[in-house]
Amino acid sequence: MLLNNNLFTQSVIEMTELNGLQIRVKEWTSEKGFKWSDYAAYCHLVEEVGELGEALVVKHGERKSGTGQIGDADHYDIEEEIGDVLFSTIALANRFNIGLDHCLDKTFDRYDKKVKLRNKIK
Ligand SMILES: [Mg+2]
Repeated sequence: MLLNNNLFTQSVIEMTELNGLQIRVKEWTSEKGFKWSDYAAYCHLVEEVGELGEALVVKHGERKSGTGQIGDADHYDIEEEIGDVLFSTIALANRFNIGLDHCLDKTFDRYDKKVKLRNKIK
């Protein structure tokens, strides 16, 4: 299932929250003129995942938060970094006109199968 581009004509109540987020990101990136290549968009997602990892390292006390100077981490706000990862993921899905609901449904299906298999093996 692809992202429904005609959601603007649907009632807000009928929209899923994920589709609503996709529209919000799509509008923002269009308005701001984000025109990255697919590879640059992918690299941005990876960069944000790395920043989330840095924030987790700070939370566990292995690095101090700071300004990015030697030894300091300038990414220490987990909420902010999860938001960045989410934004980048949504922007990537939008780029390929893929609905996040569909992606998540597929993931749950795969994970269900993995859990069933794991429980059979135990
Ligand atoms: Mg970030």
